[in-house]
Amino acid sequence: MYRTHTCGHLRITDVNRIITLSGWVQTIRKFGAISFVDLRDRYGITQLLFGEELQPLLDGHPLGREFVIQVKGFVQERENKNAHLATGDIEVLVSEFDILNTALVPPFTIQDDTDGGDDLRMKYRYLDLRRNVVKKNLELRYAITRSVRNYLHEQSFIEVETPFLIKSTPEGARDFIVPSRMNEGQFYALPQSPQTFKQLLMVSGYDRYFQIVKCFRDEDLRADRQPEFTQIDCEMSFVEQEDILNTFENMIKRIFKDVKNLDYEEPIERMSWEDAMWRFGIDKPDTRFDMELTNIKTLFQNSKSKSYPELIAGTDFPVFNQAETVIALVAPECGFYTRKQTDELTEWVKRPQIGMQGLVYIKCNADGSYKSSVDKYFDEEKLQAIAETCGARAGDLILLLAGKEEKTRKAAGELRLEMARRLNFRNTETFKLLWIIDFPLFEYDDSSNRWVARHHPFTAPKKEQIAVMLNNDPSIKNAENYLAHPFAEIKANAYDLVLNGNEVGGGSIRIFQKDLQEKMFTALGMSKEDAMQKFGFLMNAFEYGAPPHGGIAFGLDRLCSIIGGSESIRDFIAFPKNNSGRDVMLDAPSTIEDEQLKELNLQWRGK
Ligand code: ASP
Repeated sequence: MYRTHTCGHLRITDVNRIITLSGWVQTIRKFGAISFVDLRDRYGITQLLFGEELQPLLDGHPLGREFVIQVKGFVQERENKNAHLATGDIEVLVSEFDILNTALVPPFTIQDDTDGGDDLRMKYRYLDLRRNVVKKNLELRYAITRSVRNYLHEQSFIEVETPFLIKSTPEGARDFIVPSRMNEGQFYALPQSPQTFKQLLMVSGYDRYFQIVKCFRDEDLRADRQPEFTQIDCEMSFVEQEDILNTFENMIKRIFKDVKNLDYEEPIERMSWEDAMWRFGIDKPDTRFDMELTNIKTLFQNSKSKSYPELIAGTDFPVFNQAETVIALVAPECGFYTRKQTDELTEWVKRPQIGMQGLVYIKCNADGSYKSSVDKYFDEEKLQAIAETCGARAGDLILLLAGKEEKTRKAAGELRLEMARRLNFRNTETFKLLWIIDFPLFEYDDSSNRWVARHHPFTAPKKEQIAVMLNNDPSIKNAENYLAHPFAEIKANAYDLVLNGNEVGGGSIRIFQKDLQEKMFTALGMSKEDAMQKFGFLMNAFEYGAPPHGGIAFGLDRLCSIIGGSESIRDFIAFPKNNSGRDVMLDAPSTIEDEQLKELNLQWRGK
C-alpha cells in the first residue's frame, strides 16, 4: 500500500499512529545529523523528520526537490508548531523510506510566489499545476460546475452532449475547419457554440437542456481570449424572457452561495442597452461604483427649456457648440489633480484606441471656485452651471469629451473605467451583477453596407416589432443615415448578464417560425438558396412543430476568473493556450506528416 493517509490529513489526534505517506519532496532542511522534509500532495504538506539513524541511508540515496517518495513512520507532536499549516501540530518520525521516482531540478520553484515567468510555466504546465494557487483555481472551477449541475438538475434540466464535428454555425467568428478523409474535399467545422443543436433539442421536446461544453472560435486573439473555451450552455422551451432571467438569476446566486458562501440577496438590476450606453458608455457597465456620464450637450444649444440655457448658450466655444455630443464625467475628489496629471489624461484619450481629439477639465476647488482648461471661454458662473448639471461637488474633477455621439460615448465609458482603475474602485472582493436587456436586433456594418445580427441570426425581435421586420425592405439606401432605417429601431429579445463590468452570459428568445427565420437570413444579406444550404436542417425542423424557446450561455472561464479574483482566464484553465493561440507545452499547432496530408489529399502551398 502506497499510503494510509494523505499529506493533508494528520492531526494532533493521530499522534502515536504508525502511518504511510507518499508524495513529492517540497523542501529539505538539514540540521546536523537530522533532516526535515516537507512532503506534499494534492491535500497538503506534512513535515517528515529523518532522525540520526537514517542519515547514512539518506547520504547513500540523497533526496532532491520533487522526488516522489514513500515513507513509513510514527506521528508525533511537533516542538515548533506551525499555525499556518493544517498538519502543523504534528510531524512524522520516519522509520523507513523509499524513493519511488527521482526528479530533475524543476525549472522554477513550485511555490505560490514562483520565480517562473508565464512562458516557462506554460511549457511545464504539469509542474505549474502542482502549485497551490493554481490548484485552488481548478478547485474553484470544479466547485462552480458542481454547483451549476446541482442547480440545473434540481430544475429538471438534462445535460445532453452535442457533436464537435459539424457544419459551420455563425456566431460572429471564423470557424476552425477539420478536413474529412472519408469525404474528399469536404470539411467539418468545430462548433462556435452548440446553438443550432440546442434549438433542435427543443424541437425534439427536451424542454430544459444544458451542457458544459467546449466552443471553438478562430478569432484574432485579443488579450486573454482562448481559441477554445467553455460555456455553460442552456436552452428552455415555452418560456419568455422573464422566465429565463429568473431561472438564471437564481443559478448565479446559487453559485455565489455555494462557492463563496455569499448571499446575493437583492434582485439583479436590469438596464436597457440604451440606458447603459448613455449612462456608462458601454454595454457591460461596471456598476460597483457610480461615476455616471452626463450628456450636457443641451447646455450648449439655444434651448430655453433646459436648465441653464441663457448662461451657456451663446458661449463661443466652437468645440462644444459644433459637437454632436458633449459628455461629462465627474471623478470624485480628484480636484487636486496637477497639470501633469490632467495632461496625462489628455494623452490617454488621444491614444488611437480611444481616438479623441482632446479633453477639457474643470477642477471644482474646495473653496467653491473653479479652474478649467477653458477659462478663456467660460467664466466662473458658467463653469458652476456645468458643475451643477453633472452633479459635481467641491473637490471633484470634471472631465469633458466632445465629438460624434457613438465615439464620444464609448470614449467616455473607457475613461470612466480608467479613472476607476486609478481610483482603485475595481475591487475584486465586491461582486455586482446586472442584466442588460433590449439590445438592438441589428447592427450596421459599414464595410458591407448591410445589417449584421448583433447577437446571432436566431434571435427573435420583440413581438410587437415582428411586423416591422416582415414588412420592410432590409436594403440600406442611405448609408449616411442608416439610423433612419426602420430596422435600426428593432429591439431584440436578448439579454446579457454582466458581472463587475464583464459580460459573463448572453442569450435570447429565439425565432421558431420558418418564415421569420427566412426573413432574418434575407435581412442579413443571405440568398434563399444560401440560407437553405446552410440552415435548411433548422428551417425544416421548424416545420415539424417547433415550440417557442430561448436560452442563454455563460462563459465558464471568465466566470471562474472573476469569482476567483483574477484578471486572467488562463489561471483557471488546466492547459491553456498563450496569446498567440499556441500550446507551448505540446508545441501546437504544428506541421503534420506528408503522409497525413496525402491521406487528406491536401497540399500546403506555402506563403
Ligand atoms: N450561442 C450563444 C453564444 O454562444 C448563446 C445563446 O444565445 O444561447 O453566445
